[in-house]
Amino acid sequence: MRSFFTRHSLVAWLFLGLLVQTVWAQEPGAGPSPPNIVFVFSDDHALQAIGAYGSTINETPNLDRLASQGLVFDRSYCANSICGPSRACILTGLHSHLNGFRRNGDRFDGSQWVFPRALQQSGYQTALIGKWHLESDPTGFDYWQVLPDQGHYYNPDFIMMDGSRQRVPGYCTDLITDASLKWLDQRDRSKPFLLMCQHKAPHRNWSPHPRHFGKYKLGSVPAPDSLRDDYSGRSRVLQESEMTIRDHFYWGHDAKFHGPNEFPDHFRDGIPNGEYQRMSPEQKAAWDAYYQPENEAFLTKLRAGELSDDEILAWKHQRYMHDYLGTVQAVDDSLGRVLEYLEANDLTKNTIVVYSSDQGFYLGEHGWYDKRWMFEESLRMPLIVKWPDRIAPGSRSDALVQNIDYAPTFLEAAGVPIPEQVQGASLLPVFAQGGQAPAHWRDAIYYAYYENDSVHEVAIHDGVRTDRYKLMFFPRTNEWNLFDLVTDPQEMKSVHDDPQYQPILRGMQQRYRDLRGFYQVNSATIPVTRGDEDWWKQRDREKTALGKQQAHELVFIGDSITQGWEGAGKAMWDEHFAHAPSLNLGFSGDRTEHVLWRLRRGQMGISKPRAAVIMIGTNNTGHRMQPPQETAAGVRDIIALVQQQSPATKIVLLGVFPRGETTFDSMRLNNVALNQYLSRLDDGEQVFYRDLSPLFLKDDGSLPREIMPDLLHLNEAGYQIWAEALVGILQELDVYPAKP
Ligand code: CA
Repeated sequence: MRSFFTRHSLVAWLFLGLLVQTVWAQEPGAGPSPPNIVFVFSDDHALQAIGAYGSTINETPNLDRLASQGLVFDRSYCANSICGPSRACILTGLHSHLNGFRRNGDRFDGSQWVFPRALQQSGYQTALIGKWHLESDPTGFDYWQVLPDQGHYYNPDFIMMDGSRQRVPGYCTDLITDASLKWLDQRDRSKPFLLMCQHKAPHRNWSPHPRHFGKYKLGSVPAPDSLRDDYSGRSRVLQESEMTIRDHFYWGHDAKFHGPNEFPDHFRDGIPNGEYQRMSPEQKAAWDAYYQPENEAFLTKLRAGELSDDEILAWKHQRYMHDYLGTVQAVDDSLGRVLEYLEANDLTKNTIVVYSSDQGFYLGEHGWYDKRWMFEESLRMPLIVKWPDRIAPGSRSDALVQNIDYAPTFLEAAGVPIPEQVQGASLLPVFAQGGQAPAHWRDAIYYAYYENDSVHEVAIHDGVRTDRYKLMFFPRTNEWNLFDLVTDPQEMKSVHDDPQYQPILRGMQQRYRDLRGFYQVNSATIPVTRGDEDWWKQRDREKTALGKQQAHELVFIGDSITQGWEGAGKAMWDEHFAHAPSLNLGFSGDRTEHVLWRLRRGQMGISKPRAAVIMIGTNNTGHRMQPPQETAAGVRDIIALVQQQSPATKIVLLGVFPRGETTFDSMRLNNVALNQYLSRLDDGEQVFYRDLSPLFLKDDGSLPREIMPDLLHLNEAGYQIWAEALVGILQELDVYPAKP
């Protein structure tokens, strides 16, 4: 589906791009010249730390100046609250599941459509300077220089366009600004330009420039009300995340202590202050002159046992705020320098200046630092836009906007057509109405987070937010949380089980399903890990190791019913399949999306099996009641993946076994519907669909407990029926390995 759209619109795009260029070439200076775009973008900048958004903890004069000259979006959200994915959403105008960069560590496919290339092809000069974090090289830019991965605050390295690395002495935020202004100075002045000036700051580990040491002194920053949140009244997965100031604050990295951890009960070990290690002797001296007295004063009290746990938490929060707000201050300075440059060079009138950050951040709310969760503090993104002539100074907007809207906005501003696959919407109509949402504007935004089994251990979740309500879904625990943002703006209690909110819950669930449909979200086709469940991770490791150890002639792919060859089916397995040898890749509870994750990471190993026996889907169609066509798309992708990895393998695609007692059990019917779709995947050459259901059913269609005691899983007698039928199929296809 997607490749069709992409290719289709690429052709249209190339054509239109040529058209636009031709028009410009023929009529120079004929209409208004396209605006320049300066995109100043930071990393992890919370709205709570921006004056224009009502900060009570710091001052940001330059951001406030930009706000007073432009439009401030109060309901601006990310689509996925983490560094790389947010950038990918911005570049493509697509949600993460379509642009392919779902979690940090993914590799961005830079050959897909990105807005900077579209501007470049229509005559813009384009540059990106600073944090990138998408693994592959930037595409669509005439000039780029980027930080490797997260980059560093002190004496950072830059990757240059020729692939070389340069270590530049100085402070990262200032250096990115210097390079941005230098590029502006040296640009081709005959062309409009796009400059993306992207800071590392204020990302962890929050190392400020000495000029900002002590600007927000310890003890001077009020703590948020929810600093001591106990996570009651909401999904239990909240308690499992590892991003609290209380329990996950590191001795060197976060607290900035030197030497070995003296208080492992209060501080985490294992990440030293890498910034300090990069500093020159002069930088270290300046650093220590500020930090050492404060640190010693605190440690002296701690050693003397004078501090309660609560006082220690309060100190950590103050250290965090001093450092975080200090790094924000340099970002504000940077914006000031950019604005001054534009003013000094007569560029203000026809230049759009945007300030944003890849997501928000917790400054102690819910006890956290970091981001990821769909709560307001990290879901929100600052978005301030200045465009003289087109935006009234000092405007504010409560339109629901998202980072997928940036690309189409820039395109429309530049007079460049917006490709049809772009999911965001141009904000120009909002600009034109002084911040007011036009009549047809969206009523809700969709959010999805995929980075489980990773740093900070935040569970996969997604959801929707309207002007008043927020619904979140946690697939691992199959839980809904619902928040009323008017009565509970701090999101301290889910009302999903409150009888009064049942109509709202049902309505929000419908909006959730509809929005997922609108944005083409099919979870059955989006590979995800269950590595945040210990047994699953262990089994995944073991099976992957087995796959690497030896080649297998038969591979069985599926869920608990396949895993059961190691349980109730073990005797049958030993008799009929163990000799092959065969690899059992059945994982209890798996859905198609988990199988996709496992196979993509090479779980078949070195095997090019004669046959792969696939039976998967009953956990999609079952308690989830996922629509059968969605589940079938997941199975289709699994088959494609096996074929890609081993083209000669014959695929025995089994219809999902019947479940539930009678023919009218709703989960049974959903499997019947799925099997209708699966039967169409049979191509008679490589993929062979077989439905063994009749072997398990009584004449009246009911499922006998004698072979499926729980009406889902086979017992020994059931596995015997399955094994014998399967051997027959494999023999018929001439892929059954002879017994020794
Ligand atoms: Ca970030």
